[in-house]
This record gives sequence, C-alpha cells and structure tokens, in this order.
Amino acid sequence: MNLKDKVVVITGGGRGLGRSMALELADQGAKLALVDLSEDDLERTVGLCSEKGVEAKSYVANVADEQAVESLFNDIIRDFGALNGLVNNAGITRDGLFVKVKDGKVIKKMSIDQWNQVMDVNLTGSFLCAREAAIKMIETQSAGCLINISSISRAGNMGQTNYSATKAGVEAMAVTWAKELARYNIRAASIAPGYIGTEMVLGMKPEALEKVEAGIPTKRLGKPEEIAKTVTFILENDYISGRCFEVDGGLRV
Ligand code: NAD
Repeated sequence: MNLKDKVVVITGGGRGLGRSMALELADQGAKLALVDLSEDDLERTVGLCSEKGVEAKSYVANVADEQAVESLFNDIIRDFGALNGLVNNAGITRDGLFVKVKDGKVIKKMSIDQWNQVMDVNLTGSFLCAREAAIKMIETQSAGCLINISSISRAGNMGQTNYSATKAGVEAMAVTWAKELARYNIRAASIAPGYIGTEMVLGMKPEALEKVEAGIPTKRLGKPEEIAKTVTFILENDYISGRCFEVDGGLRV
C-alpha cells in the first residue's frame, strides 16, 4: 500500500507512541484520523501533522464505549470517505500483584476494578474499533490493514495479570482477523514493543528504570519512532498478515 492520501485511524493518537505514529505516517503523506480522550493532546498532534502538509482531524472518543465508537467511525467516513488503516494503540496500565501475603493473611491485591478498566480499554476498545473499521473498509471497498499494539508483556509479566492478558488477547485477535478478513482485502498484524521512552515508561521509579535498561541487550529504551516505523512497514507491505512484530531491543531473545 502506498500511503500517500490513504486514510489511517490511530487511537490514543494524542501523545506518546500514537503521536509518533501520526508524525511518521504524515511524512508518508497519509491522511490521519486521530482519536483520544484528551482534546488538548489531539490538537497538538493535529497541529504538528498539519505542519507537514497532510490532512489530519481530531476525534475525542472513548474507545471502550460501543456507541461512541460507532459514531466515531461514521464521522470518519463522513469526513474522509474511505478507510485504509487502523492502529489500535490506545492502552492503559493498572498494575498490581495478583495476591499478596500481609500480616500472615492472604489478600486480593489486584482488584476487579483494575482488571475491568484494563480489559475495557485495551481489549474491548481494540475489538470495537476494529469491528467498525472492518465494516467501513468493506462498505467503502477500501483495501485495509488493522494493527494492534500488543506488548512484550503478552508473554506474562510481574504485576501485570490484567495488562498481559489484554496484550496476548489483541495479538490473538489480529491473527483471527487476518484469517477472517483476507477475503475482503483486509490484513491484520500486531506489534509487541519492549520498553519505549514514553510517559507510560518514563513514569517508572528511576531505580526501576535503570534496572530495566540494564536488562535490555541493546542497553537502552526504544524510541517511539522505532515503533512508528514498524507501523509504516506493516501498512506498506501488502504481503504481511497475521504476524506479531517484536520491537524490543532483543529483550525477549
Ligand atoms: P500513553 O499513555 O503515552 O498514551 C496512550 C494514549 O491512549 C493516551 O493519549 C491516552 O489518552 C489514550 N487513551 C487511553 N485510554 C483511552 C480511551 N479509553 N479512549 C481513547 N484513548 C485513550 O502510552 P504509550 O506509551 O504511548 O502506549 C501506547 C500503546 O503502546 C499502549 O497500548 C501501550 O500498552 C503500548 N505499549 C507501550 C509500551 C511503552 O514502552 N511505552 C510498551 C509496550 C506497549
């Protein structure tokens, strides 16, 4: 797919990895529909993309709300008339140990709220956005690609029962969509980033961050642009479908 004038939706496009993806795709000439909860963040990213001479629009929406997602994709088609790509990037963490022994008593450490919040955004949000995106791609006869942002945590990680489950889930959904939607000229794939220098990671305690960096074979955090370039690579290569790309400095080797 040549990305010039192709329409790509990025959820969580206001900041962090989503912003970096938007700027990278703007460099390739794509038209961008950026979705986030924060209007201010969206406006900043839209401004940066517009400076690169591409059409970019902001949409404030909660990806976990079915009705909001339906309206969102109707609005996107009204504004752009076609849809060629979706990056399910919006994601949150609500970390905590599963259970813990405190004063000789075993207690529930991860609450059902922590579980549900992460399920709602990371897993249900990706499901809802991809379902609407697939419908619009088929209806407008646009060749398209769905990309889920997973994580190295998909293999399981301390304190991340909820997050790991969602990140394994989005990878499995991408495989399923690759199988189901190929007949409509729609591909699907996922990216599993390692530790990348965004607010989500830079917010860790400095000692913990130092330990993380020391454990990465390349001895540094990833740059958001390195994930953004992987998005471009997948979108541009029409023979990629169903695979998960690990971009983690060798952490899982
Ligand atoms: P971030 O917190 O900087 O950005 C996430 C964005 O998603 C924010 O702009 C936030 O407002 C938006 N968002 C959250 N909930 C939303 C909702 N319900 N509806 C719409 N938008 C919502 O995080 P990031 O580091 O840029 O991470 C982006 C994605 O990459 C996430 O899915 C994350 O799990 C994944 N990831 C990040 C790293 C990393 O090291 N940063 C590593 C692996 C995976």
